[in-house]
Amino acid sequence: MNEMEAQKLIKHMDGELETFSQAYEEGRWLKNQGLLSASDQFDLEVRRTNILLNKEIQDIVNEFLNTAENPVFRRVLLVLDRLIKDARVESNPSVYKLRSKIEQAIVNYPITIAGRKASRTDIRQILRTEKDIELRQEAFHCFDKLSELVEKDVKELVHRRNHIAQEMGYAHFGDLGLMLQGLSRTQLNEWFGSIIQKTDSTYQSFLSESAERLHQSNLYPQDLLFAVTQFKSLPDEYFTTTKLTKSIQWLADRIKLTEALARVRIDFVDIPFQGICVTIHVPDDIRILINPSNGQSYYSTFFHEIGHAMHSSFITQPYHLFRDEPGPFCEGMAETMARFVDDPEWLLNSANLPEEIAKQNKSIWRTSTVVHMRTLISQAEFEWRMYAEPEADFLNVFQTIKADYLKMPSDATLAWADNSYWTSYPFYVQNYVVAEMIASQTHLALRKFLGHTITAESGAWLAQNYWNSGGSIEWSEKILRSTGAILSPDELILELTKGYPPE
Ligand SMILES: [Zn+2]
Repeated sequence: MNEMEAQKLIKHMDGELETFSQAYEEGRWLKNQGLLSASDQFDLEVRRTNILLNKEIQDIVNEFLNTAENPVFRRVLLVLDRLIKDARVESNPSVYKLRSKIEQAIVNYPITIAGRKASRTDIRQILRTEKDIELRQEAFHCFDKLSELVEKDVKELVHRRNHIAQEMGYAHFGDLGLMLQGLSRTQLNEWFGSIIQKTDSTYQSFLSESAERLHQSNLYPQDLLFAVTQFKSLPDEYFTTTKLTKSIQWLADRIKLTEALARVRIDFVDIPFQGICVTIHVPDDIRILINPSNGQSYYSTFFHEIGHAMHSSFITQPYHLFRDEPGPFCEGMAETMARFVDDPEWLLNSANLPEEIAKQNKSIWRTSTVVHMRTLISQAEFEWRMYAEPEADFLNVFQTIKADYLKMPSDATLAWADNSYWTSYPFYVQNYVVAEMIASQTHLALRKFLGHTITAESGAWLAQNYWNSGGSIEWSEKILRSTGAILSPDELILELTKGYPPE
């Protein structure tokens, strides 16, 4: 087969993928509202496997990946190669069936608190705002049994993923999982190491101040979210659900994204998580599911989802394969939008905060972000260790990591296996930290090149530099070209030291 023929076949497969993706995303839309049956979900998985793991397609990728002369075609093959490698693990029946089994156990787990049925939103709310220590402790432990219930299966899932990755020539699934997204362990270690080290004193003082204000000798894991919410957040009254839509319109009008925003369908629903964006068809069918609640962190989630929606709706690429991008960059685009809810101009003029209160956000943002980053980094570290040391006692590893990174007594932590990221989105948590680095570096670039972050050119800048090209350019390359620097945690660290914005 020559290159022209190969291109034609891949183009055909790309069309198939486009049609399938619409059905798949519609499935995801239903699944997240609890409306997709297990068998329909299974059918979608089989269809996806048949397209991606087709022998002829795999042969083309192997033959032309390094030899194709057309650079666009070579890029298409690289993107496709990553999808195939991912599918070889995640669509393998031994992995897929076990994953579904654990997912079902997690979704169907009956949560109770104080003898009553409760939702995940209720539990989160208790951990954020409940003054009664015992109730908070009960909420913190309400997934212990679920963890016990699924731990054997999660461990087995780790073994199965490792086994397939090793057959493909990787040391373990962690290496593969990061590589597929354009990340490496060495790089993450370096980034995360300096974030941890340089935010140490901010974190220490948050712990001791919070313990003192709570009249406790120590801060415990069940107090962490509570302390952040009580001591390090702006008053909820400025961030009510009723003002939500107006607040994003305010921003969209100023950065000239009004039309694109108007095309996004936004549904307010009671779902077990805060929000999700589903791209059914670019650019005319993009939907957001959002679980309404008050407070700045809820606004941040909403803007995050809008960031995903804007990213997808501005991708102008002929290949379907270029219309999605790796997790770190997608989350980076979402967090770049979310960062606007911490922008002084937005806080003063859209959220209508008095100047004195808006000023406080600088230190509030710094501390709450440090806590959030540390929590995520500890989770990412734990996930890596699961795959690198699959024979270890995972609970013990989890407790040790928590004690190291979060500096608090962690022997009370018993639940490690119930986190649905381990099962459904392996090697994804680190992306939220990388995303924060991208947001910081991008907002710095906006200030540098446009004078401010909220300008009439900001939307177009993001579209031209990041969104339009989709997956046709490697994401790290886009960041380098647009911001003028290789992605690094420097700007984020500066902000975590000085507050946002750092000037
Ligand atoms: Zn996201």
